[in-house]
Amino acid sequence: VDIPAPRPGKHDILLKVLACGLCRTDLHIIDGELSAPKLPLVLGHQIVGRVAELGDGVEGMNLGDRIGVPWLGSTCGTCRFCVSSRENLCDHPEFTGYTRDGGLAEMAVADYRYCFPIPDSFGNVEAAPLLCAGFIGYRSMRLAGADAKTIGIYGFGSAAHLVTQVAQFQGRDVFAFTRPGDDASQAFARELGAVWAGSVDEQPPELLDAAIIFAPAGELVPQALKVLRKGGTVVCGGIHMSDIPSFRYSLLWEERSIQSVANLTRADGQELLELAAQIPIHTHCMTGSLHEAPEMLDRIRRGDIQGSAVVTFN
Ligand SMILES: [Zn+2]
Ligand SMILES: [Zn+2]
Repeated sequence: VDIPAPRPGKHDILLKVLACGLCRTDLHIIDGELSAPKLPLVLGHQIVGRVAELGDGVEGMNLGDRIGVPWLGSTCGTCRFCVSSRENLCDHPEFTGYTRDGGLAEMAVADYRYCFPIPDSFGNVEAAPLLCAGFIGYRSMRLAGADAKTIGIYGFGSAAHLVTQVAQFQGRDVFAFTRPGDDASQAFARELGAVWAGSVDEQPPELLDAAIIFAPAGELVPQALKVLRKGGTVVCGGIHMSDIPSFRYSLLWEERSIQSVANLTRADGQELLELAAQIPIHTHCMTGSLHEAPEMLDRIRRGDIQGSAVVTFN
């Protein structure tokens, strides 16, 4: 539909959108699994755009700068979480493409204090998936533990293909778990450096230090516990997951733990962008126009994309 161009308020920048990544979270919003969206809503929370106008109070940004907008749109700055370096858990947050309009449109506004300059080494399309898949993937791996040398990844989509490259760079071994029979994703995982790839119901050749689940399937939690060593952590990296089935206590026993990941902090984003340029991360993307976004989202639902999906604007 055609809607009026957004106007920048205080602390906002108006962006001419260049590219916007698609994410499984967009499907959770469409499907009503995340139940409090602004409506009507412009989706999209991995925005790469050029600054076209500066709202009041914007400092340190100039017209024409290339800027990335992530999921965390703003925080209150005063709650117990904000004042203890846990702004990802803010009591009064705003989220891009959920409680604020996002970037699946020619123009978008964003609070500049939550945006990131895009490193020059990344093209518009290549940068977009870093802004959620990259940030959340990175936070998930950090929560898996600095000493986790062997990491299982369940669901080999956008976040997994980025986090695998970070893991490798940090000297960790990745074991990729895909839907049974998904040979293409397993081959893709090996191509990116996974030391082993198999299906979610397979046992890897050794027990692992940690597992990260990106697929929104609760039944993977007990599956992942089964492949962990003593003291290992299962990290649930998605914003929504189907119910976790009950399981024997012995799977959790010996100080295994289950940890969810909520949103991101600006520090996560800063660290990941620096790492991404240093490694450098190669994002594998399929692209399409805004009109093709619904079909691309369907492909994400079917697991029919290797890497990330990005909508481009001319
Ligand atoms: Zn996302
Ligand atoms: Zn807060």
